[in-house]
Amino acid sequence: MAKIQMKTPLVEMDGDEMTRIIWKQIKEIVLEPFVDLKTEYFDLGLPHRDETDDQVTIDAANRAAELGVAVKCATITPNAQRMDEYKLKQMWKSPNGTIRAILDGTVFRAPILVKGISPFVSCWKKPITLARHAYGDVYRDTEMYVSDKATAELVVTYEDGHQEVKKIHDFKGPGVIEGMHNLDASIEAFARSCFMYALDIHQDLWFATKDTISKVYDHRFKDIFQEIYDKEFKDRFEEAGITYFYTLIDDAVARVMRSEGGMLWACKNYDGDVMSDMVASACGSLAMMTSVLVSPSGKYEFEAAHGTVTRHYYRYLKGETTSTNPMATLFAWSGALRKRGQLDGLDDLVAFADKLEKASIETIEEGTITGDLNSLLEHPNKRVVNTEEFLRAIAAKLA
Ligand code: NAP
Ligand code: MG
Repeated sequence: MAKIQMKTPLVEMDGDEMTRIIWKQIKEIVLEPFVDLKTEYFDLGLPHRDETDDQVTIDAANRAAELGVAVKCATITPNAQRMDEYKLKQMWKSPNGTIRAILDGTVFRAPILVKGISPFVSCWKKPITLARHAYGDVYRDTEMYVSDKATAELVVTYEDGHQEVKKIHDFKGPGVIEGMHNLDASIEAFARSCFMYALDIHQDLWFATKDTISKVYDHRFKDIFQEIYDKEFKDRFEEAGITYFYTLIDDAVARVMRSEGGMLWACKNYDGDVMSDMVASACGSLAMMTSVLVSPSGKYEFEAAHGTVTRHYYRYLKGETTSTNPMATLFAWSGALRKRGQLDGLDDLVAFADKLEKASIETIEEGTITGDLNSLLEHPNKRVVNTEEFLRAIAAKLA
């Protein structure tokens, strides 16, 4: 069988622990037999990040910005315990944070839905993709405890020295205050990433804030989204037959819970923090959650939403075979290959990505699963297999 050819290489970012083991298995078992895989390899495993003083992460992100599509394995974000375990020179920053800062992107997360694993919200038939604005608001706030009778004010001092002052509150006794900010540039980048990705996945975009209460702050988000939509995306949305829908956040929540899913839901930073956990847990398993970072200029980095599955890795090191779920990592690869195929006009590569996803979903629907899905899947004769057996079942289907 002739292998499917690629044109432009993917930026391949290898990672840590159990997902590093799965990474290699995915390539060997389900990709390389069918595709003449072209990648530029960057080893973001913690030992190599430490050796290169984390330069490898920066190089990989810059290369992703140049080539346009990257696929990333889960990586360890070091903490005190990891400093010791890996004898690190420094507590290196989260690679995902570094990459996100360089690509200036937004993270989109969506569950992989299969028949037999029903979302806890019974009307959800299609995946809900959630986009969280990853800058500012309460995550970069300044807070103060007001200990006694006092007047609290917001003071802005411009470069030329002139000031704008607004009263927050005349305190009659103790209380708390909080100052937070956001930036037009960051909200604009978020909006563009969302509009672009909605076109990409061909789904309606929903966005919500509390602009009726927050008449300047949240209203700014609403206005920026609307301006960018009208100027840059309205025609393309109409052509694609999708809509941009703005509503209040409480209305959005109520509507999402009664919907059949299948939309892209853009959230402000805090709403996204809360709602992504709600959507993820309603859909069952972290191992079935995909994640893609999209920059406002249309660069993509695909990955799994879960971490390096440390507990399984320690069992693997003891010589046990583990039944770790490779689905989200597999979908990172299929997502990246599909996007690469679309950008390079390679229809057979796009078709391969579709078939790979279909084969893996069918494998689960036929009852061949990894251990984490055992309590979730309703099936008359389930068979729990290890990761390698699961991948071989998918490869057999593909062949
Ligand atoms: P985790 O790796 O996501 O694993 C948490 C638990 O969830 C696992 O112990 C396992 O439960 C279950 N799980 C997650 N993925 C699974 C899969 N594919 N198949 C089966 N079960 C799965 O999170 P963590 O243990 O909090 O973090 C481990 C490391 O990952 C940390 O060093 C952290 O810094 C890093 N991390 C990286 C990323 C990223 O690169 N994007 C994201 C999050 C965390 P059981 O043990 O009960 O089976
Ligand atoms: Mg959270």
